[in-house]
Amino acid sequence: ADWITEFVTATESGRPECAPTGKYADRFAGQLVLVTGAGSGIGRATALAFAGSGARVVVVDRDAEGAARTAGLARSQGAPASWAETVDVSDEQAMEKLAEKVAAEYGVVDVLVNNAGIGLSGSFFDHTTEDWRKVLDVNLWGVIHGCRLFGRQMAGRGQGGHIVTIASAAAYQPSRLLPAYSTSKAAVLMLSECLRAELAGQGIGVTAVCPGFVNTGITATARFAGVDAEEERRRQKRAARLYGLRNYPPEKVAQAVLRAVVRDDAVVPVTVEARLFHAMSRFTPRAL
Ligand code: NAD
Repeated sequence: ADWITEFVTATESGRPECAPTGKYADRFAGQLVLVTGAGSGIGRATALAFAGSGARVVVVDRDAEGAARTAGLARSQGAPASWAETVDVSDEQAMEKLAEKVAAEYGVVDVLVNNAGIGLSGSFFDHTTEDWRKVLDVNLWGVIHGCRLFGRQMAGRGQGGHIVTIASAAAYQPSRLLPAYSTSKAAVLMLSECLRAELAGQGIGVTAVCPGFVNTGITATARFAGVDAEEERRRQKRAARLYGLRNYPPEKVAQAVLRAVVRDDAVVPVTVEARLFHAMSRFTPRAL
């Protein structure tokens, strides 16, 4: 059997796609929430959790099909309105167009969730310059574009708001497997804290959510530096098995995001499994 297909199918259909807990029912009624990378995984679960709490949601993803699916699910979960926008967050011009369109057609975003991200594993010396650029372009520049464009609109309106970044436990747990990824997430964590300090006087909260292992499709698309395609597939399967064993659903991260916004937390670790990260850092990159 194809392990990875089984894994992805199970995560896609094996459980309800984010049943709203009711805890935050109507808490976000009337608010406009934009989630990047919401075509799958944590982003989808987060968009649906906000939808279940009464928000209008803008679903942004570079994958048009995934974004449309999430927007459809959001409507079926009670969102008063939802829109799918196909945008690559690392493309500054495309993000500028998106920000203009959202402001003109849907309004000023009350909650921005910078979630889009990509994974890349391998040793530091296997990472090419191009590898570093790709990871930083999406994981860091995507967040910079989002915060700058939508944060400026929030600040300009003068009615507060909230910005969430999905960083990672990898932001503060060194690993021999994820040099570019961890560096990008550490930068996102610091960016969030700097922005939080800057925007505090304007009623705009900024939260960095730092998940540990979460059972999503990221393992199926994660790239592995310095190996051929066959070895990459083998490692994706092993990563999927590892993440599957942890079995932490993205819906729980979504709930942590809503809670963090309500409480205005600064940094929120979710499922930080320090022991596991330490264990991983003992492996050579080959071991995954
Ligand atoms: P995922 O692969 O299921 O979802 C990522 C989504 O982002 C996908 O829909 C993808 O199409 C989209 N995306 C990727 N690059 C994009 C781009 N340039 N522009 C627009 N959309 C883009 O993975 P996930 O696990 O849900 O990851 C979401 C976030 O959570 C990422 O930032 C990831 O680094 C972070 N995270 C995940 C885990 C985990 O264990 N799954 C742990 C810590 C942090």
